[in-house]
Amino acid sequence: MGTLPAMTTSTATRSPVSTVRTGDIQYWSRTLIPTAKDAPADAEAPSHKLLVRGGFIRRLAAGVYDYLPLGHRVLRKVTEIVREEMDRAGASELLLPALCPTELLHETGRADEYGDLLMRFEDRHGRDSYLGPTHEEVITELMRSAVSSYKQLPLNLYQIQTKYRDEFRPRAGLLRGREFLMKDAYSFHMHVEGEGGLNETYDAMYRAYSNVFERCGLNFGAVEAEAGPIGGSASHEFMVFCDTGEDTILRCPETGYAANMEKCEIGERSWSLEGEPSGEAEDVHTPDCPGIEDVSKLLKVKTRNMLKSVVFRVKSTPEELEKYGEEWIVAVVRGDHEVNEGKVKKAAEVGAIELAEPEKARANGFEIGYVSPRANLGKKGVLVVVDPDAAQGLDIEKGKPMFWVTGADKKDYHTKHFCWSRDLGMTIEEATTGSCPALMVADVRNAMAGDPSPKAEGVELEAQRGIEVGHIFKLGTKYSEAMGYTIMGEDQALHPVIMGCYGIGVSRTMASAVEMSHDDNGIVWPLALAPYHVLVTVMKPDDSASMDAAKNVASGLSASGFDVLIDDRFERPGFKFKDADLIGIPIRLTIGDKGLAEGAVEFKLRTDGGKGEFVKFDAVVDRCLEVAGG
Ligand code: ATP
Ligand code: MG
Repeated sequence: MGTLPAMTTSTATRSPVSTVRTGDIQYWSRTLIPTAKDAPADAEAPSHKLLVRGGFIRRLAAGVYDYLPLGHRVLRKVTEIVREEMDRAGASELLLPALCPTELLHETGRADEYGDLLMRFEDRHGRDSYLGPTHEEVITELMRSAVSSYKQLPLNLYQIQTKYRDEFRPRAGLLRGREFLMKDAYSFHMHVEGEGGLNETYDAMYRAYSNVFERCGLNFGAVEAEAGPIGGSASHEFMVFCDTGEDTILRCPETGYAANMEKCEIGERSWSLEGEPSGEAEDVHTPDCPGIEDVSKLLKVKTRNMLKSVVFRVKSTPEELEKYGEEWIVAVVRGDHEVNEGKVKKAAEVGAIELAEPEKARANGFEIGYVSPRANLGKKGVLVVVDPDAAQGLDIEKGKPMFWVTGADKKDYHTKHFCWSRDLGMTIEEATTGSCPALMVADVRNAMAGDPSPKAEGVELEAQRGIEVGHIFKLGTKYSEAMGYTIMGEDQALHPVIMGCYGIGVSRTMASAVEMSHDDNGIVWPLALAPYHVLVTVMKPDDSASMDAAKNVASGLSASGFDVLIDDRFERPGFKFKDADLIGIPIRLTIGDKGLAEGAVEFKLRTDGGKGEFVKFDAVVDRCLEVAGG
């Protein structure tokens, strides 16, 4: 017999109030738990299948779910843990409206930035409104009208509220919904360092998040994410590690450095554009093959021998446009690699970039789908950034010239035997030197398993899948500046307020617990999140002695803080046990004739196979406390 993960942990003890709370008792026949044998046809993720089959949630529309009684109880448990840890970290809870006026988003430019993700509509008076996807603007609006003295800072305010994002592809049930529950917190400071500074609150949130996910019983870690406007490692994502996760995390086994794939740096990679041609340059007809995979199949060339050229447009202000004209960046990576927009932006040292619109790019001489590194090379306002793995003149493994296939800069054609030193239309030296070189080599791709670690020489990065359940972020003055929220400091000068923001996907956390913890038969809830801690299955609910025994056991457990569900349905035992496996309540007590005769119940954990052990009625509470670590 194993033990279950503790309800409490040494680093994050529950508040005394909730340990003395009496537990709830509910009867299956009096609540709504519509279990089902089959999962919805479109469900792929285990949490989606099992939460629907177990009667926790039900789909109302794409990405929109009902939380049925069991589901709602789990959500409440996550919420309570989050609330306790936030309060303990000194934050104050409030509740902002979900329905907001769009004019606020115009102040920061996010009405456009969000685009279709924003649930936006006109009300009956023609006012442009939206349902909040997050609340930086709303809280900054509150703060600028309510807090005007540095003496009132720092402040950390949070809410637990339904959020709306019109995700293009809502998927996997609660993992990516269009309506979901989030805890979002925002902190306000006059300075970054020292007492009362942003860093202090950021660190407190980091610890609070660690406590939350530890108490939830999740296998998680914090990883470095795309940094914010303030230097250093200004953003962390909290990831639940499991194979079905959408995100890829890379870690250095030597140093413990972990980062999400987009953020992860790559260690030194050697490169050289020098090298002889592998053959005569040859244009081949590749009709309707703008994609790397299609060309690779058609020409029977490995994607690693192809150059992928992705065109970005620099988002310039009207003044910059006037001064420099339209600016373009061509990022070149190997065909089997992915361009990383953040890295491109960093390498080019520009403020903001976006994927070029095909029409506009074509009008400027970039034949999208067939672009090569030499397209517009050397023209004013064009920078080519080549990833080190693509910047190879020599095939080192084979010890001969590198064979490259690239776009031919004309529709439906690719070029075989592209050679850096021959085909740029200028020498490598001309392209790469000067005060404003036309071509540079820099890390511009997503990291992958096997890449050199940026933290330890000779060590390779390892990959792991994860689900982002939380995100903490140093915002700096992005919102306060855009919204004109300044405060007079001690120095009698006006300063834009420094902000941090901290989110937890509450409903996503619930689903990730299932992703992480289930088996072929159903969910295996961690004790802290289980809708009920104990399930009492009554074999003969029409027998009054059995029901009395169940009620007695339940009230004893309730007095010790356990939430108890009594399965009193008139169903076959086999059916009830299958449902018990499915809904995944951690501790199971069965009341049947054999046990009753001995004054005992059959005791079993969800994680145990086979038969249980008999435990005398008066020892049941202690036995349950034992496995609960209480
Ligand atoms: P993602 O990259 O998964 O789209 P995000 O980075 O855009 O998420 P944030 O703005 O950081 O999300 O929101 C804070 C938290 O809210 C996330 O860490 C995640 O747990 C949760 N969350 C975000 N989008 C959704 C969604 N569509 N459904 C459920 N939870 C979500
Ligand atoms: Mg995020």
